[in-house]
Amino acid sequence: MAKQAQLHCSFCGRSRDEVKILIAGQEGHICENCVEHAQEIIVQELNLKNDANSGNSNFKLSVRRPAEIKKFLDEYVIGQDDAKKVLSVAVYNHFKRIVQKKQADDIEIEKSNIIMVGETGTGKTLLAKSIARLLNVPFAIVDATVFTEAGYVGEDVESMLTRLLQNCNYDVVQAERGIVYVDEIDKIARKGDNPSITRDVSGEGVQQGLLKMLEGTEVLVPPQGGRKHPEQKMIKVDTKNILFICGGAFDGIDKVIARRINTNAIGFSVNKDEQEHQRKNLLQFINATDLKSFGLIPELLGRLPVVTHLNPLDKEVLRSILTEPKNALIKQFTKLFELEEIKLVIEEPVLDFMVDKALEYKLGARGLRSICESILTDAMFELPGTDTKELIVTLDYAQSMFGKSKLSTLKVA
Ligand code: ADP
Repeated sequence: MAKQAQLHCSFCGRSRDEVKILIAGQEGHICENCVEHAQEIIVQELNLKNDANSGNSNFKLSVRRPAEIKKFLDEYVIGQDDAKKVLSVAVYNHFKRIVQKKQADDIEIEKSNIIMVGETGTGKTLLAKSIARLLNVPFAIVDATVFTEAGYVGEDVESMLTRLLQNCNYDVVQAERGIVYVDEIDKIARKGDNPSITRDVSGEGVQQGLLKMLEGTEVLVPPQGGRKHPEQKMIKVDTKNILFICGGAFDGIDKVIARRINTNAIGFSVNKDEQEHQRKNLLQFINATDLKSFGLIPELLGRLPVVTHLNPLDKEVLRSILTEPKNALIKQFTKLFELEEIKLVIEEPVLDFMVDKALEYKLGARGLRSICESILTDAMFELPGTDTKELIVTLDYAQSMFGKSKLSTLKVA
């Protein structure tokens, strides 16, 4: 007993009484505090040593060919073929670039960060998320509007990497090959094309803040996000292999495109029908000049070399979204009922009704879920625990349930 009392940690010197656990080695002991500290040191050291291609992290990079990437995206995202193709190639090139980094020759492939333009709810986030899922890399969605330039209230741009780190349990090596989706990039545009008349300096400040990060630099990231403060221990993250995908609705950019196309008179030499079609789908002609006119600074655009667009969702696409994707809404609700051993049958006209309501209330694809919920909530509340084995949703039933819901009180814009 007397001998036991004399035991102490060979690292910090704390006695047996001062610690919870004392692990015995051949010639000494270590306490739980020192084990924890040692672990921290190990993680830090390993992260420093891990360059982009070696990995003590159990992370494996899976490079997929563009056609494979597109095929995978087809399972989750309906339509948007242009965007899928452009994204597939950009992502493929990006990962090829990472993998080939070791073969040092003079040709340096630049990063292929992407900017996607399309109305809200057309699948921008879904595309980015699906790509991350396919490639098995960490993924974070951040909102550009929460960031402010240094010195103002709000989050530092570096904190977008906090989200990425959190999503992979602070494994820096993994995070350094992740994908960040920056939503609402259009909201940090400066107002007006002419810098001298700009009043909104903060948007431009955030754009400036993003530059280095998008290009590739070592960033000190606050582990808990928010603002950096001096006492906080920072994590160093190299962004040179992080793929940034930016997205925004860019409301009104069609007018900018129309103006440019008219002055350049490109693509408008075709017949009247074709002209009309092109006028409706002006986004397909979008390029960096339009984004610059909208208020993104040229330096930022230079770091977002891949520009693509998403089409507005028409009736047909919305209808497919309900039933076709791998985790389509109707499949999800069917599963929910199945778990209660109830067979859910939704009649065809109900699907059309849902789509019509989503269009009527301008809710887009995002609204389809709320519409489904509004029709099925009563049944999901009442049926569990009863003898019901089947629920057939007819158009009458759907209309009456929807009529009772709060959604139906929305004003049609
Ligand atoms: P955005 O980022 O463009 O605003 P999201 O990608 O967040 O839009 O889309 C919102 C939701 O709408 C998605 O979760 C998805 O369920 C659905 N959705 C939108 N577009 C599509 C699409 N093209 N294919 C399948 N589902 C879609």
